[in-house]
Amino acid sequence: MPQTPERLVQRIAVCRQAGVVPEAMLQVVERVARWQMDHGVSADEVPEVTSTERERHHQGVPLLPRSAFPVPADGVARWHMVLEVLADTAVAPAVERLQRLLEDGEMDPEAAVRAYLTGDEAFFAPYAAKTPDAPRLLPFSLAAALTPWAVAVADKVRGTRDLTAREAVWNHGHCPVCGALPVVGDLREKEGYRVHICSFCRTAYRVPRLQCPFCLETAQGQLGFLDAPDLPGFRLLTCATCRMYLKVTDFRTMDRTSWPAMDDLESMTLDLAAMEQGWRRPTLSAWGF
Ligand SMILES: [Zn+2]
Ligand SMILES: [Zn+2]
Repeated sequence: MPQTPERLVQRIAVCRQAGVVPEAMLQVVERVARWQMDHGVSADEVPEVTSTERERHHQGVPLLPRSAFPVPADGVARWHMVLEVLADTAVAPAVERLQRLLEDGEMDPEAAVRAYLTGDEAFFAPYAAKTPDAPRLLPFSLAAALTPWAVAVADKVRGTRDLTAREAVWNHGHCPVCGALPVVGDLREKEGYRVHICSFCRTAYRVPRLQCPFCLETAQGQLGFLDAPDLPGFRLLTCATCRMYLKVTDFRTMDRTSWPAMDDLESMTLDLAAMEQGWRRPTLSAWGF
C-alpha cells in the first residue's frame, strides 16, 4: 500500500482514537509527514560519493558514515520551510523563538544543518533551554527537513545492492549504510526474515533473527519480548544484557503493510510500558520524541 495523503489521514485517525499521543503532537506529525511527501529528494540532486571498499564494509564499516554525508545546498531553505509549516501548530511559540534566534544571528543555520547530519547532539543542548515548552523542537525540525535528503543519499550509496536479500545478513548492529542505530524492525516473508530500519537514513537491512542490535548479544536466554493484546503485530524485542529494546512489527498474517514511522507512532503505549519496566530505547522514536 503506497504512502499517500489519504493513508496518512487514516493512520493519524487510528492514533487519535488510541489516545496515547497528544493531539498537538499528532497535528505536528501530520504536517511534517505531509510536507515530506511533497518534498522528496531525487537521486540526481545528490552528489557523487565515495563509499567504503568491500573488504572493510564486510568487517562492519558503514558504506558512508553519517559524518561523511554530503550537506544539501538547500538544507537551510528546507529547514525554514518546515518551521513555517509548524508556525500555526501547538509548537508555534517555540517555532517563533527559533526563527528569532536565526533572524538575530544567534544561531548559525548552516552549522545547525551540519550538526543534525553528523549527529552532533552537543550542538543542540544549549538551545533546548531556549524552547522549554518544546525542548526537542530544534533537532526534530531539522530531522523533518533533512530526512528526505538522508534517504536519497542512502539510496545512491546502496546503488543496486539489496541489503534485505538472504545473503546480505548484517550482524554488526548499526546501519550498513550510515552506521546509525536501527529505529524499528519488521519481520518479512513466510520465514520471518528480520529487517531493521535505520533511524537516520531509513535504509532497510536484513539482520540475524536472534541478536540484540545494540550489544550484539546472541544468547537466547537473554533475548525476550514484550507485547500487548490490543496491539497485534507489534513486539518489543528486549535484551537482558544491555536492558535495551527494539520495536519490531510482524504484519505477515494481517491485512496491513509496514509504514515504519506511522507504525511507531501508533504503538507508543508499548514504549511507555517498557520504560515503566526499566527497559530503554536507545534511539528516539521515528518522530524524534
Ligand atoms: Zn543508515
Ligand atoms: Zn543487548
